Amino acid sequence: MVTSECAPLAKTGGLADAVAGLSRALSLAGHDVRILMPHYASFDTNSSPYTTFPDGSGLRLCSDTLDGAELFLHHVPAFDSIDTIYTGDNRDAARFVALSFAAAWFGHAAKWQPDVIHCHDWHAALVPDVLQFIANEAVSNAREAADTPPTSPLSSVVPTVLTLHNIGYQGIFASAAIPAPQWTALSRQQLHEESAATVNFLKLGIQHATAITTVSPTYAKEILTPQFGMGLEDEIRKREAELTGILNGVDYATWDPRTDPYLNYHYSDDDSESKQIIRAALCDRLQLSPEPGAPVVGLVSRFAEQKGIDLFIDALPTLLNQTSTAFAILGSGDAELTSRLQLIAESSPSRVAFKAGYDEPLAHQIVAGSDFLIIPSRYEPCGLTQLYSLRYGTIPIVRSTGGLADTVKHFNPETGSGNGCVFNDADANALIWALTTSIEWFGNPNAWQRIKRNAMSEDHAWSKRVNDYTTLYEKAIDATFRIKAGKFVS
Ligand code: ADP
Repeated sequence: MVTSECAPLAKTGGLADAVAGLSRALSLAGHDVRILMPHYASFDTNSSPYTTFPDGSGLRLCSDTLDGAELFLHHVPAFDSIDTIYTGDNRDAARFVALSFAAAWFGHAAKWQPDVIHCHDWHAALVPDVLQFIANEAVSNAREAADTPPTSPLSSVVPTVLTLHNIGYQGIFASAAIPAPQWTALSRQQLHEESAATVNFLKLGIQHATAITTVSPTYAKEILTPQFGMGLEDEIRKREAELTGILNGVDYATWDPRTDPYLNYHYSDDDSESKQIIRAALCDRLQLSPEPGAPVVGLVSRFAEQKGIDLFIDALPTLLNQTSTAFAILGSGDAELTSRLQLIAESSPSRVAFKAGYDEPLAHQIVAGSDFLIIPSRYEPCGLTQLYSLRYGTIPIVRSTGGLADTVKHFNPETGSGNGCVFNDADANALIWALTTSIEWFGNPNAWQRIKRNAMSEDHAWSKRVNDYTTLYEKAIDATFRIKAGKFVS
């Protein structure tokens, strides 16, 4: 796995949970998994020096494994002064180009050849190109040295799988942002077909990875269209035959109300008293005092355009007027959304609690202690918080898009089917309708018990996705051998 994030060490969102969860599940199923991630300056980890690469960077091996999956940290001394995971500027380009080269050198250094390299998001999307470049170099060096043709022109190219966790983030940089030696190497791969001035990491990955996945079946279809493709829809359509949508799973070692390490009380489907205690503790902590019989609605999210937080804020004054709901909100990101929410929270402190920032324990407490979790995303590749909330009996209220559409089915009180509330339009009125509908279910004991039972009985364990990924890895390996055989014969 080549990644910019892996929980719990480095996390800004679902990518970290997904990489950790998939790696754990593969390792528990008997696969030999190694994860390569940058060694961020903030790490206070127990890691030992492992090896040094030709560019002076090095690998460190973390002493903790993820259920046997080993975590290697790529240390670049020049980046020691950067105190965040992402900088949002050219230093990101330098960091992740360096990581891609480390991925290519890794096999040699660790004396371990992976069967397949799984690249996550734009940060690792140059890996296929770097592997190809290094293989070509090796071939030409061997030719010069021995004056005999190598057995296969692609003999050291390992198949690659690129997972698109979110194509809203593509890694677009001026080519000058890529340090000179690596740029010279990569430009031999003709990276700048369209414009020598810019490089789009994700686009190159989509063009050159052996196989491509994304994190839900619906998002796999959506990204073929201009509305969701973010300008890459044509490139993705060219690779449609190699594109698969596989839903993310949940790491129930971290997100299960029976064992959640961030909760003082635990519960399972048939014990709701503990949930009430957790809810009361949450309200205490956030100084919320909901009226008797009123629900607590949670929201835990990055504050980005994608997440539809503005729709929620637009709806909030009406929701406060027309219902007696209380809101427990945690989020970090966009400054304008943050200050809009702060204003509302200040004027209704007993009904709206808002914590700005990133807070893992509070995220768990909100997911566990709320009655509903609201996820009004404009687009959502998979979404993890709705999967967590299902297990906690916290009913998700979601917009019908991407993985939210695949995992949340609108409750029907007549048939008793469904596990949440789903609305279609990306506007405040739809959200108001959804919340009002949900409150009706909340007030009806039979309906409420049924929807909670439906939600809590779902199983999205990562172990259930292992077969999908191993089948895909095998196909990628087969495809690579077929290409090699073809080239060799011709
Ligand atoms: P995305 O990756 O787009 O942010 P996901 O739903 O896939 O969305 O994953 C979000 C993850 O990040 C969840 O584990 C959620 O609990 C966590 N998260 C989001 N915002 C915060 C926050 N402010 N504090 C703590 N955890 C957060």
